[in-house]
Amino acid sequence: MKKILVTGGAGFLGSHLCERLLNEGNEVVCLDNYFTGRKTNVVHLLDNPYFELIRHDVTMPFFIEVDEIYNLACPASPVHYQYNPIKTVKTSVLGAVNMLGLAKRIKAKILQASTSEVYGDPQVHPQTESYWGHVNPIGERACYDEGKRAAETLFVNYHKQNNVRIKIIRIFNTYGPRMHPNDGRVVSNFIVQALQGKDITVYGDGSQSRSFCYYSDLLDGMIRLMNTGDDFTGPVNVGNPNEFTILELAKNVIRLTGSSSKIITQPLPSDDPLQRQPDISLAKSKLGWEPKIELEEGLIRTIEYFKTIVK
Ligand code: NAD
Ligand code: UDP
Repeated sequence: MKKILVTGGAGFLGSHLCERLLNEGNEVVCLDNYFTGRKTNVVHLLDNPYFELIRHDVTMPFFIEVDEIYNLACPASPVHYQYNPIKTVKTSVLGAVNMLGLAKRIKAKILQASTSEVYGDPQVHPQTESYWGHVNPIGERACYDEGKRAAETLFVNYHKQNNVRIKIIRIFNTYGPRMHPNDGRVVSNFIVQALQGKDITVYGDGSQSRSFCYYSDLLDGMIRLMNTGDDFTGPVNVGNPNEFTILELAKNVIRLTGSSSKIITQPLPSDDPLQRQPDISLAKSKLGWEPKIELEEGLIRTIEYFKTIVK
């Protein structure tokens, strides 16, 4: 039985990850400050004697003995990470320093939840891991993008300098049940708006694209990466390469919910990437991974979840 620490474990992806790792026979310690995560996401796990929930902020040091660390603590929605940009940078950078220091001391393997945002508004399409990105260092998204880039830098240097066993996953837009209904990300926003019969808010003309990955596929890739040999560190893109415009997404959500909502347009936020699509060749070859759940199926499952919580 492995003992595994999941930071950000009460969030959308973290809570599913805790559940998966417990089901696979591990002992799991979930650490979260509940900024965007919620106890309700993990409350069903509290009866499990191999699950432990700790309120802690990763910007402060934390000591524990574990075999593996999944470092997911960081708000992921633009609305949330821009709410307190300085805190977002601290969470990514100080959080990485604290968790890497811990991994070094206890000789644990550590995985960083990085992001497609390290590519910024990409000028290379689809994005390969070798692309360095196109990020505005002083823009609205910089607190998140540059924070995650600095975290990657810390990870590779703890590996080179201190032989820490690291893994870096670059996650592309992932959605599914347990996203916060007010989280502000596009899939949850559109589904909640459609279920409530409110206008669907497309930012800009909706021609910008994203490639949406269902959470269970993402977690398969993440766990496979953690289980690779020590010589493979990543970074590796994990996401679904099927690309959709935001307008197409809005129309799909309206169709699948049977909603009478109308599509309206609102201003495009600054530095909003125009296109995003992962090249997953590396994940295919190194992890033997590719996504299984396409957008239609994933949206149907996510809509079913939101029907149970949206009034
Ligand atoms: P989320 O907001 O639901 O989860 C983040 C969790 O981290 C929350 O539970 C939050 O309370 C916690 N947290 C935030 N700051 C913290 C701090 N200082 N100390 C302790 N806990 C803190 O988002 P998510 O979608 O589950 O994302 C999880 C991770 O995956 C994040 O690191 C995110 O950057 C990364 N990621 C997600 C996506 C995606 O599309 N979902 C894409 C790229 C990267
Ligand atoms: N978006 C939108 N309406 C919304 C929320 C988001 O049109 O209500 C757009 C947003 O401008 C972006 C895309 O959807 O182009 C994805 O936004 P999200 O916040 O989900 O993630 P990110 O921009 O980080 O990929």
